[in-house]
Amino acid sequence: MTKVVLPGSTIGVLGGGQLGRMMALAGAHMGYRFVTLDPTPDAPCGQVSAAQIVAAYDDRAAARELARSADVITYEFENVDSGVARMLEQESYVPQGSRLLHTTQHRLREKRAVEEAGVRVAPYRQVESEKDLLDAVELLGTPCVLKTATGGYDGKGQRVLHSEDEAEAAFAELSGPGVDLVLEKFIDFEKELSVIAARTPDGEAAAFPAAENVHVDNILHLSIVPARVPQEVQEKATEMALSVAESLGVAGLVAVEMFWAGGDELYVNELAPRPHNSGHYTIEACVTSQFEQHVRAICNLPLGPTTLLTPAVMVNVLGEHLEPLIRLIEKGGMRSRGGVTPKVHIYGKTESRPKRKMGHVTLVADDVDPALAWIEEAGIWEGQVAKTGPVR
Ligand code: AMP
Repeated sequence: MTKVVLPGSTIGVLGGGQLGRMMALAGAHMGYRFVTLDPTPDAPCGQVSAAQIVAAYDDRAAARELARSADVITYEFENVDSGVARMLEQESYVPQGSRLLHTTQHRLREKRAVEEAGVRVAPYRQVESEKDLLDAVELLGTPCVLKTATGGYDGKGQRVLHSEDEAEAAFAELSGPGVDLVLEKFIDFEKELSVIAARTPDGEAAAFPAAENVHVDNILHLSIVPARVPQEVQEKATEMALSVAESLGVAGLVAVEMFWAGGDELYVNELAPRPHNSGHYTIEACVTSQFEQHVRAICNLPLGPTTLLTPAVMVNVLGEHLEPLIRLIEKGGMRSRGGVTPKVHIYGKTESRPKRKMGHVTLVADDVDPALAWIEEAGIWEGQVAKTGPVR
């Protein structure tokens, strides 16, 4: 059953992090109220919502309270407890459903679903034993990447194998009771791209312009838009994301991360069933932001145009960058300069730790080069900008 959720209604968000916060800020413009559930009091989303329920994500009584106070439920992270997801689905309106979550919570299920959409993923093999791993290494060749099927993020739960000799140690390190493993061919990519697609329960779909992403230590560092790849590659990436959204019956957003290995070789690496860090640039650079689009999609309203208004580069502000950024702001660093306008977003997290995402800055400019130069000159992200390409 699909329905239209009109402004004035309350949106319940499972998870109170920055994605929920930016969703609530976007939805508030349209007249929606937000209630969030998060274990940390005064969470980033809680600060901008009408109310926050302070409880663990797997606390069913708290989830039920969220369901009671909201007209529609969404989530801002993918590791939602499956029992809570099913309960919410039964007791309230969750247009995104629990199926997409179930698919994207497991790399093997996810890869199969992408293949069923007729979209390419890096060649892979399921690994259940050390023997399986050795066979898979022989088949796929080295280098290759051994990954746990669940629980991995920001590069955790994966090892690059440079030769067969490393297989035994990698297997010992990553295997364990109830841990499924997958071996992937290492893609010698030229660029990493992502496309965020939106789809309403009624089936209207739209995709945002592809972002070129640069990771440092497996954490997103930059998103550059337009992506510096041929137009045909951007178009193919968009088609792939829309095929995935359609085939998986997405309601809301799906972020599709890809590797471009030159020519027309594009492989899907990962999906995220929610707004994505690589789509933050849309707040300033697109007619509709990914957050507004997500709210429109789950409320079954017409989707907004995804047209790019300006080139932009988004740089993440991790714990180690926050203090230097504040000092830069103090010295007038938020002023537009040389055609580059910095837009600062700080998420309101009380505790800053190295590598923790504390905020981001989007540089809006006539071209991506002066925006990248701004980041270099800021001196906050020392040595990171030039580092592109796969890390072996
Ligand atoms: P993931 O957790 O799968 O997103 O992987 C984190 C990062 O590791 C990716 O963004 C890539 O930079 C790198 N990586 C993962 N899988 C591969 C692969 N098959 N080939 C090359 N690089 C990879």
